Amino acid sequence: MAVIISGKEVSAKVRAEVKAECEQLKEKGVTPGLAVIIVGNDPASRVYVNNKKKACAEVGFVSEEYALPEETSQEELLQLIDQLNHKPEIDGILCQLPLPKHLDEKAVINAIAPEKDVDAFHPSNVGKIMIGDYRFLPCTPAGVMELIHHAGIDVSGKNCVVIGRSNIVGKPMAMLLLHENGTVTICHSRTKNLKEVCANADILVAAVGKPKFVKADMVKDGAVVLDVGINRDENGKLCGDVDFKEVEPKASYITPVPGGVGPMTIAMLMKNTLTAAIERGASLSAN
Ligand code: NDP
Repeated sequence: MAVIISGKEVSAKVRAEVKAECEQLKEKGVTPGLAVIIVGNDPASRVYVNNKKKACAEVGFVSEEYALPEETSQEELLQLIDQLNHKPEIDGILCQLPLPKHLDEKAVINAIAPEKDVDAFHPSNVGKIMIGDYRFLPCTPAGVMELIHHAGIDVSGKNCVVIGRSNIVGKPMAMLLLHENGTVTICHSRTKNLKEVCANADILVAAVGKPKFVKADMVKDGAVVLDVGINRDENGKLCGDVDFKEVEPKASYITPVPGGVGPMTIAMLMKNTLTAAIERGASLSAN
């Protein structure tokens, strides 16, 4: 029987810490501010944006929502980002992805000032993560690391396997495990012997986007299994990339879906926004 690492519990702890630090910062005259941009009417994006606004209110941040119509032009979106880059009371800017097809996602990410890029998607922040000199960590991989730390798992010297190589999850996840001295393998759709590679992992992170993809025969006895996936199963029920029922008896630690990595992502976004606001406070008092 595995220990279930509860993202619900750990994220509540992170949010409570952020809230306490936010109160201290407010006493110094700085209220953290997050601007959230949403373009179009994607229902999933709407839910994510609402959750982010709710989390801001809970920890005491100011949030500003910019809901733009589907037909917004690239120029209009870049203009808004430029305004927010120069708005002193805004510490973090987040543009909810995916964007409508006619908009250039890369250009939008590049337009956000790196010091306000609380998603840590800007190439400058990505580069900093590579060299281990970072201010912001991408929220989902950072959330996974927080769960690992909370469970008291030491990554050093462990065989770590990450399934998935996206810029948002897989690649930065691998880098964070490497920074903690894990021996890291990244798997993707062209990986040969995926089963064997995964079955050798002490720490297995699944970020594939396929319901119940990781089966018991891909998991070593006593492995730590972290499930990033958010999918719907054949009955429309929320599930991860890991077949929890099969894998849980073999694992030593496992994250559930829902209630695992998911809630961590927003908690880490709050943490990044707080970091940016603390830096604003420090530069105000230096001037
Ligand atoms: P992407 O679709 O961008 O990446 C999926 C990765 O899985 C790719 O690298 C792909 O390989 C790899 N892959 C696909 N099929 C296979 C296969 N058969 N064998 C091995 N590797 C495979 O997804 P994301 O990284 O954005 O997201 C992954 C999952 O995490 C999704 O379920 C998403 O919803 C969830 N997610 C959850 C978040 C949270 O807050 N918990 C936040 C972000 C994402 P290749 O590169 O070769 O195509």
